[in-house]
Amino acid sequence: AYDEHGNRRVTVAYGDGIGPEIMEATLRVLKAAGAKIAPEIVEIGEKVYERGVSSGIDKDGWESLKRTNLFLKAPITTPLGGGVKSLNVTVRKTLGLYANVRPVKSYAPFVPSLHDNIDMVIVRENEEDCYAGIEHRHTSEVTQCIKLITVPGTARVCKYAFDYALTHGRKRVSCITKQNIMKITDGLFHRVFKRTADQYPTLESEHRIVDIATAQVASKPHLFDVIVTLNLYGDIISDVAAEVAGSVGLCGSANVGDRAAMFEAIHGSAPDIAGMDIANPSGLINGAIMMLGHIGQRDVAVTIKNALLKTIEDGIHTADIYREGKNSKQKVGCQAFADAVIERLGQLP
Ligand code: ATP
Ligand code: MG
Repeated sequence: AYDEHGNRRVTVAYGDGIGPEIMEATLRVLKAAGAKIAPEIVEIGEKVYERGVSSGIDKDGWESLKRTNLFLKAPITTPLGGGVKSLNVTVRKTLGLYANVRPVKSYAPFVPSLHDNIDMVIVRENEEDCYAGIEHRHTSEVTQCIKLITVPGTARVCKYAFDYALTHGRKRVSCITKQNIMKITDGLFHRVFKRTADQYPTLESEHRIVDIATAQVASKPHLFDVIVTLNLYGDIISDVAAEVAGSVGLCGSANVGDRAAMFEAIHGSAPDIAGMDIANPSGLINGAIMMLGHIGQRDVAVTIKNALLKTIEDGIHTADIYREGKNSKQKVGCQAFADAVIERLGQLP
């Protein structure tokens, strides 16, 4: 997975819409910070779908991923219409990426948010639950989707959440389920969680029911540190949290498995502002920071994180977070924002 200079090989896709701009900005920041990576550029998304590849990723893409097991991915546009599969789902299943990790942070007062001091990490199981693709139409009036929850699937995501908490200086892991209604499936998830928690005596653990817990993510987000939950609940909670923190445009996420991992921004390809150099690259930069942590380049990750925070705190803002007369001082484009981050490498927020 390393080249002859000791650089970690990474498959990089520029994607669609604003993808190429934010990827260019991100790679420039990584390079300036001294990240030891060797990008292998592959094409994914619209152009590949148009060639009739139903997953949006072709042989070259897979071959690179087989070499690197590491993917830094810009957003893509999934064409509407039949015969098209979600690239994310295909990659996730093929590479066995069982944990989806989304840190959510508020940047108040620099970016408006509903609450200050939000700093939580949501670990969502990524392969099971109603997403296993087991859905049937029995008759024209009766349909069914099967919720699949297994001990091995639950155990590895719970272990991931506790290991993450340990290595990232977190204190508490909250398990979120609906075990009062789905006693067997969600009950299993909670039972495996408790068993895992016993192996991490230095970390606090707790369980909450999904309805009230989701409400609390919105109303009292400081209650949460690390959350681990089932696929569907995690999907919803992740978006609620990012929205409440006001950082949908700033969040990155990781999809992690035992041998491979994929890192990205949580937003889509935003075709409405593509090619205008006004997109905010922070989401993808945050994804890249997670990637550096994952491949053992923590120092570079921290350096970039500090420079990114300092840039935002200095009021250097892209249009999406610029607020006249508030904490914004200078409205910049995508590449100028990256330049501002590069200038601040080595500074603390
Ligand atoms: P997808 O279906 O690909 O997830 P979506 O409908 O969720 O897409 P996004 O592409 O995520 O939508 O973006 C919604 C809107 O938010 C965009 O049209 C754009 O105006 C804005 N937006 C998204 N990402 C950014 C960004 N990085 N910088 C600035 N604005 C953004
Ligand atoms: Mg979206």
